[in-house]
This record gives sequence, C-alpha cells and structure tokens, in this order.
Amino acid sequence: MIGGGIAGASIAYELAAHRRVVLLEAESALATHTTGRSAATWIPGHGTAVFRALITASGPRFAALADELGAAPFLTTRGTLWAAFDDEGEAALEAMLREQAGEPDAPLALGAAETGRACPVLRAPRAGAIAEGGADVDVMGLHQAFVRGLRRRGGEIRTNARVAAVEPVGELWRVRTTGGEELTAPDVVDAAGAWADVVAGLAGVPALGLQPYRRTIAIAPVPEPTGPLPMVCEATERFYFKNEDPAGAMLLLSPADETPSEPGDPRPEELDVALGLERVEEATGLGLRSVRTAWAGLRTFAPGRGPVVGARPEHPGFHFFAGQGGSGVESSPALAALGAAIVTGTPVPADIPVTPGQVAPGQVSASH
Ligand SMILES: Cc1cc2nc3c(=O)[nH]c(=O)nc-3n(C[C@H](O)[C@H](O)[C@H](O)COP(=O)(O)OP(=O)(O)OC[C@H]3O[C@@H](n4cnc5c(N)ncnc54)[C@H](O)[C@@H]3O)c2cc1C
Repeated sequence: MIGGGIAGASIAYELAAHRRVVLLEAESALATHTTGRSAATWIPGHGTAVFRALITASGPRFAALADELGAAPFLTTRGTLWAAFDDEGEAALEAMLREQAGEPDAPLALGAAETGRACPVLRAPRAGAIAEGGADVDVMGLHQAFVRGLRRRGGEIRTNARVAAVEPVGELWRVRTTGGEELTAPDVVDAAGAWADVVAGLAGVPALGLQPYRRTIAIAPVPEPTGPLPMVCEATERFYFKNEDPAGAMLLLSPADETPSEPGDPRPEELDVALGLERVEEATGLGLRSVRTAWAGLRTFAPGRGPVVGARPEHPGFHFFAGQGGSGVESSPALAALGAAIVTGTPVPADIPVTPGQVAPGQVSASH
C-alpha cells in the first residue's frame, strides 16, 4: 500500500482481512496531506453518480465500522442546504434536482421562505434544496480506527518511507523506498492521493491524467453566535459554510476554490481567504471581518471526476486507488470495500451498487 491518508488506511484495513499488508507513507505521520484538511462532511447527493452511490452505501457502513472497530460513532447528524441567490443559482439547483430525481438520498426542493427557515442567517435566498440525512464526520477518529483495525489484522505501517522506485520482477513488483528498504509483493496499491500519477510513473504505468486542485478553508469568528446551522452550499459552488462549534461562535467557510496545482503541500492564499469571507458575508450579513485560522488542501480528480480503482490490463498487480476528489472521506467505507473486492478479485459486496467496470482505469471518462 503506497500512501497513508484515508484512502490508503481504509483499503489497507479491508485488504488485511485477506492478505498480508504493508503500508508505506512518505511523511513522518499519516494523514498530513489532504485527509487532515477536509471540511469533514458526509453529504448524500454529492458528486458524480458513482460517488453518490458510494456515499449513500457508506451511511450504514460508518455505523457498522464503528462497532467493528470499537470506536465512538463517526457521524454527527447535520443536514445540507443548497441555496440559490440569483438566476444562475436557481438554474444550478434545478439541474441538480433533475439529475438526482428518484435517487435514494435525493435532496428536497425548497421555496424561498422554507430555505430561509432552514438557515435563518441567510439574506434573501431565492430557492433551496435540502438533504436532511447528512452528517459531520470525525475524520481523524475514522482514520485512526482504520489504522488500529489494520494493525489488529496483522498489517504493518512504515512512516518516513517514501517510495522511490517500483519495478515489475516476473509476476511480482519490487518497491524501494528513499531509505533503501526493499519489498516484493504480487500486488501494489497506489493510494498516493495527489501523487498517484507520479507513483504510477515510477512503475512505468501510464498516468490517469489526475489533476490536483487547491481548496481553501477558513475559520472566522462570528460577532453574534449563530447556534447550530446546516452545511450551507451556494448552488453554483461559490462558497460553503457551517458552524464550527456548537454555539456557532466560529464559522467554517470556503470560497469553494478550485485552483489547478502540482502535487505538494499548499498554503492558503490571502486572496482566496478574503474571497470566502466576502462571499459568505454578502450572503449572510453576519458581520464577519477576520479569520482565526486558514488552511488549504488538494482535491485530486481523474478525468470524469469519479474514483479510479484497479489495474490496467497491461500492468496486472499495480492497482490504482485514486481520484477521490472532494469525497474521499464521505465515500471511504464503501469505496474501500469495493477496492478490496477489485484487488482480490472477489465479488463486490451486495450493498455497493457500483461495478468494477465503472471505476476501472481507462474507462473512467466514459463511465461517468
Ligand atoms: C478543503 C478540502 C475540503 C474537503 N472536504 C471534504 C469533505 O467534506 N468530505 C469528504 O469526503 N472529502 C472532503 N475532501 C476531500 C478529501 O479530503 C480527500 O478526498 C481525501 O482526503 C483524499 O485522501 P487520500 O488518502 O487519497 O489523499 P492524502 O490524504 O493526500 O494521502 C495520500 C498520501 O500518500 C502519500 N504519498 C505520496 N507519495 C508517496 C510516495 N512516493 N511514497 C509513500 N507515500 C506517498 C502522501 O504523503 C499522503 O500522505 C476535502 C478536501 C479538501 C482539500
């Protein structure tokens, strides 16, 4: 397993039920890159059709995993409200509702007054849509539980172990780290997040065409605490926000920026932070003036924006587990189980309505 974010930890846990697993992480600690920087939400109805199916299938799996791993529940209920403030927003809402009509977690359309009632701090929303079933995710609790479960199943974790070379040796793969350590295995799983194409390149496997995009989050003090709010997303994705603490004295907000970036360790740009503050202030009038802290992370998408899982036929044993984009946490329970089935060649669990073909490298663009 290459990469120790939520992707690597979750599929390593699932695979350790069948195989001996060694997880190699370049950094000195796990989850320091994208996984440690998310907005920590589980939003049914988010993303491509394949992601929506995985996110919905993950709902009951979050609860089952907490039991299985002896952890406190990972989810705390919080609805998601999409709000439109202009013609463009209304058109985006309509398109979203049309696309998801009939799906199990499809959001419900709301008029202007109902949207205002669902989030009283909004100024003059024109329309909205609500998914009541969403939740906040205890991302670090989830990640640590996967790691504990992996160790319990006999899996090993090596940090400060950056993979520097991957080469086929007969039917096996030999992996070498910058520290000179060598491992040989029949299967390699590339869960290197923004670096997944870089790792594929080391192995001589054609890239997927992954693109990392920087996204910024800021935490802003609110002069008059709001109390609990839903997760509010502007319908065209110009911003989102939610209360950070139970009293609502702090707001987590984002300009929902998507700046193409190289794999790396991004910092928040002042302009993006200011844009987030300005857009949320315009929509709410909460009196937001400054930020307490801000960070940025990379959301890495494959062409077609769906997840990519499995090996290219010409490179058996080198499995991608990549393209988690903005949904790597909320989809992780089901995506990891799907991934383990694909790597081991066993049937996909019946509660996951996604076929290996829908996520196979090479077919991703066509299948989403
Ligand atoms: C601002 C923001 C908000 C988000 N909000 C949400 C949300 O609300 N809900 C949600 O579900 N998702 C959200 N996401 C997306 C989610 O965080 C990602 O999809 C997920 O964390 C990706 O996990 P990963 O394990 O693929 O990547 P990472 O966590 O980046 O892990 C990849 C790991 O691979 C390691 N690695 C790279 N190269 C090598 C190498 N050569 N050798 C060894 N190790 C290597 C890296 O060091 C890294 O630790 C958000 C993302 C951002 C940035």
